[in-house]
Amino acid sequence: AAAPYLVVNNVEVIYDHVILVLKGVSLEVPKGGIVALLGANGAGKSTTLKTISNLLRAERGDVTKGSVEFMGERVDQLTPNELVRRGVIQVMEGRHCFAHLTIEENLLTGAYTRKVSRRELAEDLERVYHYFPRLKERRKSQAGYTSGGEQQMCAIGRALMARPQLILLDEPSMGLAPQIVEEIFEIVQDLNTKEKVSFLLAEQNTMVALRYAQFGYILENGRVVMEGTAEELRENEDVKEFYLGLS
Ligand code: ATP
Repeated sequence: AAAPYLVVNNVEVIYDHVILVLKGVSLEVPKGGIVALLGANGAGKSTTLKTISNLLRAERGDVTKGSVEFMGERVDQLTPNELVRRGVIQVMEGRHCFAHLTIEENLLTGAYTRKVSRRELAEDLERVYHYFPRLKERRKSQAGYTSGGEQQMCAIGRALMARPQLILLDEPSMGLAPQIVEEIFEIVQDLNTKEKVSFLLAEQNTMVALRYAQFGYILENGRVVMEGTAEELRENEDVKEFYLGLS
């Protein structure tokens, strides 16, 4: 079997010292994989991603059990910035671009954790524009005046500026038209195959996620209730009924 890459082991998370939200979640992302984390609103998908990226503490969340390992090392005591330097970065739900900065300024902020020369920065920008030609067209526009799809692209592009190995992508399809969702997932797939970026993808859009991911986990109420290859999940009767609306 391939060496473990990202391993989340039996993680329990409590918000505000009382609200138990993750009740022992375990999952793995293999190197080079696209793994989907599926489930309804409130199931705990965002919390799982924030547990890995260590953005949880900013929201008064505590990991009370379990561990997170990346490339064979415990990473659950690192700061979010230290994790970014190791190659793990989260793209938050709701896009989070700076509305008053231009697209290009937003992208440049993504390189903040690295010491890089102007030349490297320029190369990294070109790399982002190569995958997101729309961002190149809009590079002088204030992010707040671009479309939802462009803002989602900006958020992913900004993460790419940190030269990540693993992107934790939270609900990229949220609020976007199907055609734009498709465009974004095609780019995710491109980044996966050409740049070897791995993805853990939280999605309520089960149908789309299972077309691009190789493997998926279904969360319900803070627990993994099902896992399997994308094909197994697509063929599963319960998944069809509850998550694909195909009953
Ligand atoms: P969504 O698609 O809405 O993001 P999700 O599956 O990602 O859903 P989470 O955002 O992880 O779910 O939320 C899981 C549960 O934790 C929900 O019941 C939510 O209300 C609760 N929760 C999330 N953030 C906090 C917080 N900062 N403080 C207290 N409770 C929280």
